[in-house]
Amino acid sequence: MKIKSNSPSQLLSIGEKLGKIIDRETVILLDGDLGAGKTTFTKGLAVGLGVEDIVNSPTFTIAKSYSGRLALNHLDVYRLEGLDEDFGIEEYLGDNEVLVVEWSKFIDKDIFNEYLHIQIDYLDDSRILTFTAKGDYYQNLIKELEVWKS
Ligand code: ADP
Ligand code: MG
Repeated sequence: MKIKSNSPSQLLSIGEKLGKIIDRETVILLDGDLGAGKTTFTKGLAVGLGVEDIVNSPTFTIAKSYSGRLALNHLDVYRLEGLDEDFGIEEYLGDNEVLVVEWSKFIDKDIFNEYLHIQIDYLDDSRILTFTAKGDYYQNLIKELEVWKS
């Protein structure tokens, strides 16, 4: 499923919609080049999850956690590129928590049984989001987004 976004505010609102429909532990894996909008999308998601703190890029800290309606654990694994060590990412997904991983291409996605993957590609100021789900719960999230955007 694909959604086009023409501005940062549209990308924020897509993230916010996804955050609003999440009501259980959820894994969201984000890919796309530097500046594609992974962090912007996560900021919107945080709003939808009821996080009140400002969400910033965790590029240098690797992980940041926020409390909201559900806790949000925001990881950026860019700096783990090429590192073969076991970072233990799955430990960032507690019961009823949401895990967002930027640059998930640098990790083994199969450590999660199920997840939502979002690839963000860009051309000038437009962004194309490509949603792929592994598992029924995640397929349903995509369906709800599809209904919402139409
Ligand atoms: P990433 O986390 O993928 O590196 P960021 O979300 O930090 O990306 O940055 C995206 C940048 O692109 C922001 O500076 C934002 O203002 C800019 N931008 C321009 N057009 C868009 C758009 N349509 N959607 C999202 N971001 C956009
Ligand atoms: Mg980022």
